[in-house]
Amino acid sequence: MSEPLNKLTNLISFYPFAEGTPGNRVFFIFAEGSQGKARIQLEKEQLIQLSLIIQELIADNNDLDIPSTTKDLNYDEKINLNIQLMSLEVKKDIMPGLYLFDIFDSNSKKTPIIQIYVSAEKIKLFAADAIKVCASGRPLCPLCGEPINPEGHTCPRTNGHIHKNDLEFEP
Ligand SMILES: [Zn+2]
Repeated sequence: MSEPLNKLTNLISFYPFAEGTPGNRVFFIFAEGSQGKARIQLEKEQLIQLSLIIQELIADNNDLDIPSTTKDLNYDEKINLNIQLMSLEVKKDIMPGLYLFDIFDSNSKKTPIIQIYVSAEKIKLFAADAIKVCASGRPLCPLCGEPINPEGHTCPRTNGHIHKNDLEFEP
């Protein structure tokens, strides 16, 4: 793999978020580091998968509380990216407590458009937040725990359809 086009190190912020109304939300990852910032749009399923991958990666990790810093790289211009995610790879860095995200968009199939260095502490918080962001927005079915769409819900627990109005929810 060739050198990434951009790098973000010494992150100030790294978190998932969603915009829009329940059922029609758009999902993003936001990252800001020494060199600038990036907003990466992705599918909800990609965010859920990412969270699961992270949880597996950090499960056997015993260096979670070691703060990691990386050397600042000098760029003439600040990074300010708005991209649509095609794929990404997460891996442990050789430095303990540090993880690498290689982000690819449709124009960068072989070379990451950006590589983000994330500390173990931040990656752990990210995974927890990603689950919350994906789950919020729609009320959860009290029977099966799955989110209920505005048009209704097919509940596996009752083997049939439950409509939103059949159930009462907290606002
Ligand atoms: Zn249900």
